[in-house]
Amino acid sequence: MCWYERIYYPRCHHTETPLVRYCHFARNDPGHQCFGAWNYQREYEQLDSECNDCTRRRTNLVRENGLRWRNHTY
Ligand SMILES: [Zn+2]
Ligand SMILES: [Zn+2]
Repeated sequence: MCWYERIYYPRCHHTETPLVRYCHFARNDPGHQCFGAWNYQREYEQLDSECNDCTRRRTNLVRENGLRWRNHTY
């Protein structure tokens, strides 16, 4: 079985489960598929930021707003 981390982001109520380590079944499989059970190595909460998806979305938003603001100014 493979090991994952579970990160909870209370700010956006999302959970991320990045892979920590493949078991050797998954490592030897071409598609890295694992047929065993998932295991969480550790779980924690990221209190001071949003998940990567939300952070990326927010960054795009800021960039678009910035462009729009610049168009108004010039
Ligand atoms: Zn596995
Ligand atoms: Zn999120």
